[in-house]
Amino acid sequence: MTDRLVLVINCGSSSLKFALRSESARQPLLSGLAERLGTAEGVMNWKAGDAGEQVQLPDGRHSSAMASLLPLIARFAQQPLTAVGHRVVHGGEHFTGARVIDDEVIAAIEDSSPLAPLHNPAQLTGINEAMTVFTDIPHIAIFDTAFHQSMPAHAYRYALPEELYTKHSVRRYGFHGTSHRFVSTQASLLMGMEPGHGAWLTAHLGNGCSTCAILDGRSLDTSMGMTPLEGLVMGTRSGDVDPNLHSHLARTLGWDLERIDHMLNRESGLLGLSGLSNDMRTLVAARAEGHAGATLAVEVFCYRLARSLAGLAVALPRIDGVIFTGGIGENSPLVRELTVRHLALFGLAIDPAANATPPGNPARQIQADNSPAILVIPTDEERQITEECLALLDLAATQPVEQEA
Ligand code: AMP
Repeated sequence: MTDRLVLVINCGSSSLKFALRSESARQPLLSGLAERLGTAEGVMNWKAGDAGEQVQLPDGRHSSAMASLLPLIARFAQQPLTAVGHRVVHGGEHFTGARVIDDEVIAAIEDSSPLAPLHNPAQLTGINEAMTVFTDIPHIAIFDTAFHQSMPAHAYRYALPEELYTKHSVRRYGFHGTSHRFVSTQASLLMGMEPGHGAWLTAHLGNGCSTCAILDGRSLDTSMGMTPLEGLVMGTRSGDVDPNLHSHLARTLGWDLERIDHMLNRESGLLGLSGLSNDMRTLVAARAEGHAGATLAVEVFCYRLARSLAGLAVALPRIDGVIFTGGIGENSPLVRELTVRHLALFGLAIDPAANATPPGNPARQIQADNSPAILVIPTDEERQITEECLALLDLAATQPVEQEA
């Protein structure tokens, strides 16, 4: 079989991230990011092996950014594209897996837009532009929420009046599904288990952070909820707070909803706690210099992470391993060490030498003797999207694709 190619697209309101992936190569053939779209300073940076360039996009349009991909792909792809895979943040309850995009899928993404007003409309723009430029090949949507559709009702329902769920879709959905799925599959391979099997607690720790309990490839619970604000402390997001905080701030300080939203999403988390930075690297360095805010931020981050993992453990019959991934999870021995210290109750303990291994290493085990497995696994969401696109096309080739939206 020839090595099939997938163009992976992740479109934001002012950005367009792309990667050209082949079925077999671990690294992208071409990748890049167009930024500041919607302004006169639109710019695209791309790289392919040793080659790379910055291209100005003075009209700042998504359509120009998309069109400028065509000659690049012609240059670096050895053969025609097989498909375009689009990351879509919110699929509501419509999707449990990847779907070939048609009018029905577009309508369902629109229907879920009120749940992700910053993401879904931008991703629809990306889909429309890409379909105009890359014609005659399938466009496939991969949803951050789809992996978590296997959660049971006792995990996804909030204790709120039923009508809010049945009429207004208020429930827990979860995000980062592509990453949680990818690292749990890699963990089963690393541990010599049947691919996709095992009972895992995963911690995706990047600018956004979430945990997940996974049994044999199915998400049983996760820390994010109706939106990606619920759960862990993140770079600038608060994670869980008392829901009465909103009314308290409105009553005592006169804050409106927009201000409260902004504070919880943009001024909180590591940034709010430390008063210094949302970047874990900066905080780890400042903590080493004795910075009190940075020290507190790291401690709260790790304690809340451990508490979340411990809570999610109740969803599993056993723990085959705890997995750290994302920029922080893959690169911070300190965060892994402080977090696992809070999980001694589960018999979890880290081997300091294995934990200290310099970053950039491939997937590895870092547990001490007699501890359940603790794994560091680099995530690769684009590879997961590529694999899901190709698997869907293989399935469609053997049987008609079930329509579920
Ligand atoms: P991501 O969104 O997955 O790219 O992750 C971004 C986060 O990873 C930021 O908070 C970075 O500070 C953090 N990060 C990256 N490298 C390191 C490192 N060596 N030590 C601690 N945090 C890191």
